[in-house]
Amino acid sequence: MLPNEKGKIAVLVIDMLNDFVKPGAILEVPAARNIIDNIKKLIQVAHEKRIPVIYVCDSHRKGDKEFEAWPPHALEGTHGAEVIEELAPQRGDIIVRKRRYSGFFETDLDLTLRELKIQTLILTGILTDICVFFTAVDAFYRGYEIYIVSDGTASIDEKRHNDALEKLRMLARAKVVKTEEAINLLKKV
Ligand SMILES: [Zn+2]
Repeated sequence: MLPNEKGKIAVLVIDMLNDFVKPGAILEVPAARNIIDNIKKLIQVAHEKRIPVIYVCDSHRKGDKEFEAWPPHALEGTHGAEVIEELAPQRGDIIVRKRRYSGFFETDLDLTLRELKIQTLILTGILTDICVFFTAVDAFYRGYEIYIVSDGTASIDEKRHNDALEKLRMLARAKVVKTEEAINLLKKV
Protein backbone atom coordinates (compact mmCIF):
# COMPACT_ATOMS: atom_id res chain seq x y z
CA MET A 1 0.00 0.00 0.00
CA LEU A 2 1.34 3.45 -0.91
CA PRO A 3 2.02 5.73 2.04
CA ASN A 4 -0.79 8.15 1.24
CA GLU A 5 -3.29 5.62 0.09
CA LYS A 6 -6.13 5.48 2.59
CA GLY A 7 -7.04 1.99 3.70
CA LYS A 8 -10.35 0.86 5.02
CA ILE A 9 -11.57 2.36 8.23
CA ALA A 10 -13.00 1.01 11.49
CA VAL A 11 -14.48 2.57 14.60
CA LEU A 12 -13.09 1.35 17.93
CA VAL A 13 -15.18 1.74 21.08
CA ILE A 14 -12.91 1.21 24.06
CA ASP A 15 -14.08 0.17 27.54
CA MET A 16 -17.52 1.79 27.56
CA LEU A 17 -18.44 -0.77 30.21
CA ASN A 18 -20.79 -0.68 33.18
CA ASP A 19 -17.91 -0.84 35.68
CA PHE A 20 -16.46 2.41 34.29
CA VAL A 21 -19.47 4.37 33.14
CA LYS A 22 -22.39 3.82 35.51
CA PRO A 23 -22.89 6.17 38.49
CA GLY A 24 -21.32 4.57 41.56
CA ALA A 25 -19.41 1.99 39.51
CA ILE A 26 -16.24 0.54 40.99
CA LEU A 27 -13.99 2.56 38.66
CA GLU A 28 -16.44 5.27 37.70
CA VAL A 29 -15.33 7.82 35.12
CA PRO A 30 -18.16 10.38 35.34
CA ALA A 31 -17.09 12.19 32.15
CA ALA A 32 -17.65 8.95 30.23
CA ARG A 33 -21.37 9.64 30.39
CA ASN A 34 -20.87 12.88 28.44
CA ILE A 35 -19.50 11.07 25.39
CA ILE A 36 -22.16 8.38 25.02
CA ASP A 37 -24.31 10.36 22.57
CA ASN A 38 -21.35 11.23 20.36
CA ILE A 39 -20.17 7.63 20.20
CA LYS A 40 -23.73 6.58 19.44
CA LYS A 41 -23.87 8.98 16.48
CA LEU A 42 -20.59 7.61 15.14
CA ILE A 43 -21.75 4.02 15.49
CA GLN A 44 -24.98 4.82 13.68
CA VAL A 45 -23.14 6.27 10.70
CA ALA A 46 -20.70 3.35 10.71
CA HIS A 47 -23.59 0.89 10.61
CA GLU A 48 -25.25 2.79 7.77
CA LYS A 49 -22.00 2.72 5.82
CA ARG A 50 -21.22 -0.90 6.77
CA ILE A 51 -18.01 0.21 8.43
CA PRO A 52 -16.78 -2.22 11.10
CA VAL A 53 -17.47 -1.27 14.70
CA ILE A 54 -15.09 -2.99 17.07
CA TYR A 55 -15.69 -2.98 20.81
CA VAL A 56 -12.45 -3.33 22.74
CA CYS A 57 -13.41 -4.42 26.23
CA ASP A 58 -11.68 -5.09 29.51
CA SER A 59 -12.44 -8.65 30.60
CA HIS A 60 -10.45 -9.74 33.61
CA ARG A 61 -10.04 -13.00 35.41
CA LYS A 62 -10.29 -13.28 39.14
CA GLY A 63 -6.95 -12.35 40.67
CA ASP A 64 -5.78 -10.78 37.39
CA LYS A 65 -2.30 -9.26 37.57
CA GLU A 66 -3.78 -5.87 36.66
CA PHE A 67 -5.56 -5.86 40.03
CA GLU A 68 -2.22 -5.13 41.67
CA ALA A 69 -2.67 -1.64 40.24
CA TRP A 70 -6.47 -1.32 40.40
CA PRO A 71 -9.36 -2.70 42.43
CA PRO A 72 -11.00 -5.68 40.74
CA HIS A 73 -13.19 -4.54 37.82
CA ALA A 74 -14.74 -5.81 34.59
CA LEU A 75 -14.60 -9.45 35.64
CA GLU A 76 -15.35 -11.71 32.68
CA GLY A 77 -18.94 -12.80 32.49
CA THR A 78 -20.25 -10.17 34.91
CA HIS A 79 -22.61 -7.24 34.28
CA GLY A 80 -19.73 -4.86 35.04
CA ALA A 81 -17.76 -6.18 32.08
CA GLU A 82 -20.61 -5.59 29.64
CA VAL A 83 -20.86 -2.63 27.28
CA ILE A 84 -23.38 -0.08 28.60
CA GLU A 85 -26.81 -0.71 27.18
CA GLU A 86 -26.93 2.68 25.41
CA LEU A 87 -24.09 1.47 23.17
CA ALA A 88 -24.86 -2.23 23.20
CA PRO A 89 -23.17 -4.07 20.32
CA GLN A 90 -25.44 -5.04 17.46
CA ARG A 91 -25.35 -7.99 15.13
CA GLY A 92 -22.22 -7.82 12.99
CA ASP A 93 -20.24 -5.75 15.49
CA ILE A 94 -17.00 -7.26 16.72
CA ILE A 95 -15.98 -7.63 20.35
CA VAL A 96 -12.32 -7.97 21.31
CA ARG A 97 -11.67 -8.76 24.94
CA LYS A 98 -8.47 -7.63 26.60
CA ARG A 99 -6.81 -8.09 29.99
CA ARG A 100 -4.42 -5.16 29.82
CA TYR A 101 -4.66 -1.50 28.83
CA SER A 102 -3.83 -1.93 25.15
CA GLY A 103 -6.41 -3.49 22.89
CA PHE A 104 -3.54 -5.05 20.94
CA PHE A 105 -1.79 -6.80 23.82
CA GLU A 106 -2.29 -10.58 23.57
CA THR A 107 -5.60 -10.17 21.72
CA ASP A 108 -6.61 -10.83 18.12
CA LEU A 109 -7.31 -7.15 17.38
CA ASP A 110 -4.42 -6.82 14.93
CA LEU A 111 -5.33 -10.06 13.15
CA THR A 112 -8.96 -8.95 12.96
CA LEU A 113 -8.02 -5.58 11.49
CA ARG A 114 -5.64 -7.13 8.97
CA GLU A 115 -8.25 -9.63 7.85
CA LEU A 116 -10.65 -6.75 7.28
CA LYS A 117 -7.87 -4.83 5.44
CA ILE A 118 -8.28 -1.90 7.79
CA GLN A 119 -5.58 0.75 7.82
CA THR A 120 -7.34 3.60 9.57
CA LEU A 121 -8.78 3.61 13.08
CA ILE A 122 -11.17 6.02 14.70
CA LEU A 123 -10.74 5.71 18.46
CA THR A 124 -13.46 6.46 20.99
CA GLY A 125 -14.04 5.51 24.62
CA ILE A 126 -12.14 5.67 27.87
CA LEU A 127 -9.78 6.52 29.42
CA THR A 128 -8.03 8.87 27.06
CA ASP A 129 -4.79 8.56 29.01
CA ILE A 130 -4.89 4.83 29.75
CA CYS A 131 -6.60 2.29 27.49
CA VAL A 132 -7.24 4.68 24.60
CA PHE A 133 -3.67 5.93 24.92
CA PHE A 134 -1.95 2.54 24.95
CA THR A 135 -4.20 1.18 22.21
CA ALA A 136 -3.37 4.21 20.05
CA VAL A 137 0.36 3.84 20.68
CA ASP A 138 0.23 0.15 19.81
CA ALA A 139 -1.75 1.02 16.67
CA PHE A 140 0.98 3.49 15.73
CA TYR A 141 3.67 0.84 16.24
CA ARG A 142 1.77 -1.35 13.79
CA GLY A 143 1.44 1.34 11.16
CA TYR A 144 -2.22 2.24 11.44
CA GLU A 145 -3.48 5.72 10.71
CA ILE A 146 -5.15 7.03 13.84
CA TYR A 147 -7.95 9.45 14.53
CA ILE A 148 -8.92 10.20 18.12
CA VAL A 149 -12.34 11.70 18.72
CA SER A 150 -11.76 14.44 21.31
CA ASP A 151 -15.43 14.64 22.33
CA GLY A 152 -15.83 10.88 22.02
CA THR A 153 -13.12 10.06 24.58
CA ALA A 154 -12.87 10.98 28.25
CA SER A 155 -10.71 10.68 31.33
CA ILE A 156 -10.93 11.43 35.04
CA ASP A 157 -10.39 15.13 34.40
CA GLU A 158 -9.91 17.54 31.54
CA LYS A 159 -6.19 17.97 32.14
CA ARG A 160 -5.44 14.27 31.86
CA HIS A 161 -7.69 14.07 28.79
CA ASN A 162 -6.02 17.01 27.03
CA ASP A 163 -2.48 15.97 27.96
CA ALA A 164 -3.09 12.51 26.52
CA LEU A 165 -4.50 13.94 23.28
CA GLU A 166 -1.47 16.19 22.93
CA LYS A 167 0.93 13.30 23.55
CA LEU A 168 -0.86 11.12 21.02
CA ARG A 169 -0.71 13.94 18.49
CA MET A 170 3.05 14.18 19.00
CA LEU A 171 4.04 10.57 19.60
CA ALA A 172 1.55 8.51 17.61
CA ARG A 173 0.85 10.97 14.79
CA ALA A 174 -2.79 10.82 15.81
CA LYS A 175 -5.20 13.28 14.29
CA VAL A 176 -7.47 14.67 16.97
CA VAL A 177 -10.94 15.37 15.58
CA LYS A 178 -14.42 16.24 16.82
CA THR A 179 -17.34 13.84 16.38
CA GLU A 180 -18.68 15.80 13.40
CA GLU A 181 -15.34 15.58 11.58
CA ALA A 182 -15.14 11.87 12.31
CA ILE A 183 -18.66 11.42 10.94
CA ASN A 184 -17.65 13.26 7.78
CA LEU A 185 -14.71 10.91 7.42
CA LEU A 186 -17.00 7.91 7.67
CA LYS A 187 -19.45 9.41 5.21
CA LYS A 188 -16.67 9.82 2.63
CA VAL A 189 -15.85 6.12 2.71
ZN1 LIG B 1 -8.70 -3.35 33.48
